[in-house]
Amino acid sequence: MQLIDGKGLAKTIKEEIAVEVSQIKSTGGKTPHLAAILVGDNPASAVYVRNKVKSCEAVGFKSTLVRKEATITQEELLQVVADLNNDADIDGYIVQLPLPAHIDEDAINLAIDPKKDVDGFHPMNLGRMTLGLETYLPATPYGIVQMLDRYGIETSGKHCVVVGRSNIVGTPMSILMSRKTKTGNCTVTITHSRTKDLASEVRRADIVIAAIGIANFVTADMVKEGAVVIDVGINRVEDASRKRGYRLVGDVDFDQVAPKSSFITPVPGGVGPMTVTSLLMNTLKASRKEVYK
Ligand code: NAD
Repeated sequence: MQLIDGKGLAKTIKEEIAVEVSQIKSTGGKTPHLAAILVGDNPASAVYVRNKVKSCEAVGFKSTLVRKEATITQEELLQVVADLNNDADIDGYIVQLPLPAHIDEDAINLAIDPKKDVDGFHPMNLGRMTLGLETYLPATPYGIVQMLDRYGIETSGKHCVVVGRSNIVGTPMSILMSRKTKTGNCTVTITHSRTKDLASEVRRADIVIAAIGIANFVTADMVKEGAVVIDVGINRVEDASRKRGYRLVGDVDFDQVAPKSSFITPVPGGVGPMTVTSLLMNTLKASRKEVYK
């Protein structure tokens, strides 16, 4: 069994980005600039955004945080989005989700200029992904693709089972794993809450990608000997021995599954750290106009 060290890989990729940024700066190029819109005071969202801003600073990007009260109207938020679309210095931006219930997330997503959609959630970018065109891949799937690539995991002819069909993880992941690419080329089964006998579907997998949000859902009896296991889940379980009263676990029962696997991602320290790295890579692409001229 080999551990896929997402934390270490993310650090390496950030160092590579930092070198590129310093080269851009030393040759008089424009410093990549990422903005983030944070609405309300959801503590988890604040932590995520803070990490993104800190990561930007660490690699030498410019970053701008736009904070708005939870009482902002949809019209006002659409104006904030329009302002960022028109700000020539900002290469890309994200709108941290979830938004307050009175705001239509789809309407906001559709208003983002696809050229600046470094989260890769706009239908234009998801459509480009589906067609195999250059695009901003959604952050978590992009992180997983990077892991498969850098660890040299063979995908051609393999059977990949994705558990979960969310728009941000399961669905794009199922598409990417079936593309004719080095990190695709699998036969893919996508499973979800309505799948009959999910355990036997997962048992057929050479590569399992679990993204459901249920602690330790994928157990050892569901995993084939030698499978590659990518655990996207981040779940809190009570743990009185920890100061904060809980610890984070994935969707995979790591202790039981790890000995059967050929490669496995830990939680924490696996897929999670790669997500921010993907955002930085997309912002670099945006500043170099690699996707849209
Ligand atoms: P989601 O809640 O949007 O979707 C969950 C999916 O799981 C749904 O498609 C649903 O059909 C499926 N599902 C639910 N119960 C199931 C069951 N009993 N059997 C089979 N399928 C079932 O979730 P999401 O946004 O994709 O997130 C999934 C998990 O990944 C969460 O723990 C989340 O915190 C985590 N996550 C981690 C990262 C990261 O960077 N590591 C990024 C995004 C999400």
